[in-house]
Amino acid sequence: MDYVSTREGRSAVTASQAIVRGLAPDGGLFVPTEIPAVDMEFIRGLCADGYRERAVKVLGLYLEEFSREELEAIAQASYGDNFDCPAVAPTHVLDADTGVLELWHGPTSAFKDMALQIMPRLLTASLRKNGEERTVSILVATSGDTGKAALEGFKDVPGTRIMVFYPRDGVSQVQKLQMATQEGGNVNVVAVDGNFDDAQTGVKRIFSDKEFAEELDGRGFFLSSANSINWGRLAPQIAYYFSAYCDMVNAGNIALGDEIDFCVPTGNFGDILAGWYAKRMGLPVGRLICASNDNNVLTDFIGTGVYDKNRPFYLTSSPSMDILVSSNLERLLYCLTGDGDMVRGFMEKLSGQGRYEVSPALLESIRSEFVGGWCADADAKAEIGRLWREQGYLMDTHTAVASRVLRDLREKEGTVRPTVVVSTASPFKFGAAVLEALGAVTSETGPALMDELTALTGLPAPKPLASLAGKPVRFDKWVPVPDMKQAVSEFLA
Ligand SMILES: *Cc1c(COP(=O)(O)O)cnc(C)c1O
Repeated sequence: MDYVSTREGRSAVTASQAIVRGLAPDGGLFVPTEIPAVDMEFIRGLCADGYRERAVKVLGLYLEEFSREELEAIAQASYGDNFDCPAVAPTHVLDADTGVLELWHGPTSAFKDMALQIMPRLLTASLRKNGEERTVSILVATSGDTGKAALEGFKDVPGTRIMVFYPRDGVSQVQKLQMATQEGGNVNVVAVDGNFDDAQTGVKRIFSDKEFAEELDGRGFFLSSANSINWGRLAPQIAYYFSAYCDMVNAGNIALGDEIDFCVPTGNFGDILAGWYAKRMGLPVGRLICASNDNNVLTDFIGTGVYDKNRPFYLTSSPSMDILVSSNLERLLYCLTGDGDMVRGFMEKLSGQGRYEVSPALLESIRSEFVGGWCADADAKAEIGRLWREQGYLMDTHTAVASRVLRDLREKEGTVRPTVVVSTASPFKFGAAVLEALGAVTSETGPALMDELTALTGLPAPKPLASLAGKPVRFDKWVPVPDMKQAVSEFLA
């Protein structure tokens, strides 16, 4: 299967080349030229499998250069003891019509682990397949969770370096501590004096700097990305949509072949786009509900066809969704139209005027598969409290946005369709906001909040989070946005 850029649709590369490069040379994102189709027998087979087998079967359809044995070994190492439950990504049945797909049982307690535990292994295997001898240097801009998950995934992986930039005031205390205490001899973490979009734009600028690339080449390095723009991040995420569907079948909530909706707390549009690929492959998915927080640029886009990032930027208690430029949307626009020139035009307008508008026909096509919704920060918090009181289920602030958006939609439509809410983080990762949502008054900060949450709910904190308090801080540097390149240069000296 070939992969092409969303901005030209030509010069095909293989999957391993797409993974090695991260971003296409023209600034576009790599997408497969066709979407593999599966039938109901394939899905029936998955229902009898564990998570690793499900992942191998789904991933194998996209990564033809990888043998079955190779993928099995990679999946074994990626989704094993590093996850705190054998199901890897269990679906919690909330009620007859609602499942919660828990994607946070990995080493950093957020859903990014689902992709980032496996992606470094796919990347290093891809490097070998392409005879690459230079050291791959991963640059990451993170709104919190990606950074830590990428650091954990890449730490001490031979032939790799990783450098993470995060917005200085845009991540939670626990997230900051997770990154500041990162172990590993090939890692670096630097805060940026700006918001996530500033950090992401800064990283993109470094990637497109040809002179800098030549300079690094001379030193034996080349840059690549672990952001969700890398196909190696997106592909593993497709598997958990199949897995959740099978869980719902196995739990008796639906019959094989029934349609379900997915409601996804969305930031960069990577998670929900993986769901769209699953749907297009033949998984019986009705609608994909794109849930946003106060930064509701996607809700407006799905409502009007106008993508406009010229708007206030809010820091919310779901920081991983505090995003105004949802990079992976570009993939959807290309896949729906096959028109690279048009997509390039949109992206040029987005970086020039901060705004573009799609045609009525394209909007119609988006709306036939996606529903947009958003909820205010206070309403997401109220949802956490309500679910805990009424159903004894504790969720984090991001998942709560999706849960609330789903509840509002069901109320508005007056019907209830079987739906899986995609749960993206452990509530312990966002202890302050979750405690507040439960009505607790606390003067604690940072990791001590986790003890309070345990005292209040009787639930244990995930082990890697519980052990944070005792770890030494290794990284406490910050830079202004224009100095990011210099920081990279020093790290790759
Ligand atoms: C990254 C993240 C999201 C958003 O996912 P996207 O793929 O960027 O849309 C939502 N919740 C949490 C906890 C995350 O870490």
